[in-house]
Amino acid sequence: MRTTVGIVGAGPAGLLLARLLHTAGIDSVVLESRDRAYVEHRQRAGILEQGTVDVLRAAGAGERMDREGLRHDGIELRFDRTRHRIDFPALTGGRSVMVHAQTEVCKDLIALQLKEGHPLLFEAEALAVEDATTARPRVRYRHEGRDAVLECDYVAGCDGFWGIARRAIPERLGRTFERSYPYAWLGILADVPPSHEELVYARHDRGFALLSMRSPSVSRLYLQVPEGTDPDDWSDDAVWTELERRFETDDGWRLERGPVTQKSVTPMRSFVHEPMRHGRLFLAGDAAHIVPPTGAKGLNLAVGDVVTLARALIHRRDTGSDQLLDAYSATCLRRVWQAERFSHDMTALLHRTPDAAPFEDRLQLARLARLTSSRAAMTDLAECYTGFPLG
Ligand SMILES: Cc1cc2nc3c(=O)[nH]c(=O)nc-3n(C[C@H](O)[C@H](O)[C@H](O)COP(=O)(O)OP(=O)(O)OC[C@H]3O[C@@H](n4cnc5c(N)ncnc54)[C@H](O)[C@@H]3O)c2cc1C
Repeated sequence: MRTTVGIVGAGPAGLLLARLLHTAGIDSVVLESRDRAYVEHRQRAGILEQGTVDVLRAAGAGERMDREGLRHDGIELRFDRTRHRIDFPALTGGRSVMVHAQTEVCKDLIALQLKEGHPLLFEAEALAVEDATTARPRVRYRHEGRDAVLECDYVAGCDGFWGIARRAIPERLGRTFERSYPYAWLGILADVPPSHEELVYARHDRGFALLSMRSPSVSRLYLQVPEGTDPDDWSDDAVWTELERRFETDDGWRLERGPVTQKSVTPMRSFVHEPMRHGRLFLAGDAAHIVPPTGAKGLNLAVGDVVTLARALIHRRDTGSDQLLDAYSATCLRRVWQAERFSHDMTALLHRTPDAAPFEDRLQLARLARLTSSRAAMTDLAECYTGFPLG
């Protein structure tokens, strides 16, 4: 098989890239190792920055998001049993975020791709990217029990942190930057309306907790737990009791309980691979970088990368110039490092390290007090949370 852009991975990065290229008249083939149901139901991110919302609308994939997504104009920070709201539009000149699950974004992008008859192969596992530094890079893959080759002009490695694309970059030509954290998130999905209309980020001496949502009738809640925690060690009742403790306030706020439909543990990691390009192979999304989820940036970074890549490929087609392709890695990394910084700072601000000294606890509370009383500090948070400029 032959195509202009071979895309490895049908997560948000690969699917949106295929869509952006298609609307510009550039053909691509998407290879995805898992089946469609798995990709459509994998619970992950849920906060779309303003820029991501705009891109999905412009790509013709925003109709259901606009109908079912929940516009959020702020978040609540909770510590010392008190509540503090950060008002995004008031601090940023009108920007907000959209709560709309990654699963739903992927479902819509898959439906569009298949409806218009563009190649998206499920259960097609890429085995290797070869000849990346030549004019004819190739992806070797296995589909329906047979080995095959996808010949391309360009390859987009959108295959997530555990994918194979990054391995095509020789170690001596790349550099990785990494931080792991001594805690993880135990997340539940529950069939109960969210107890608060906006996300609540709670710092507590027992650890961090987050109240989030997927829809007006489905809550998504997280607890900081030690790394390596087995979700089965937590009964539903124990999760709710711990959430109640960490969200408790002096004003009588109550957390509504409901049936838990899913429980999982997410490790926390910061990771960046530089550069994000090797010859005609371009890494995008989690294949190139990971952020801890505290800043809600993972999905949005993936969108930023593929917008930059699509723009560069269109520029190449229209002008014959490689200028934007050559700038791809540096352009993306500027935004990536801002998101890494913000995600790391939010994580450090709100989580309690297992061996935290009392002095560090006091500093953390002083930082939160400053953040919720200074307009300059709140503006910085609001600007970062609602998103860094694309491209
Ligand atoms: C468990 C979990 C929870 C998360 N929660 C949040 C959150 O609450 N908030 C937030 O902002 N972010 C969250 N994230 C991060 C966010 O979901 C990711 O940043 C986002 O999915 C990145 O999209 P992507 O397309 O780059 O990668 P992915 O979504 O990982 O997609 C990569 C795709 O490539 C496929 N693939 C892998 N290897 C191959 C191969 N060899 N051949 C073909 N296909 C392959 C995979 O099956 C997958 O479909 C979470 C991530 C994880 C793992």
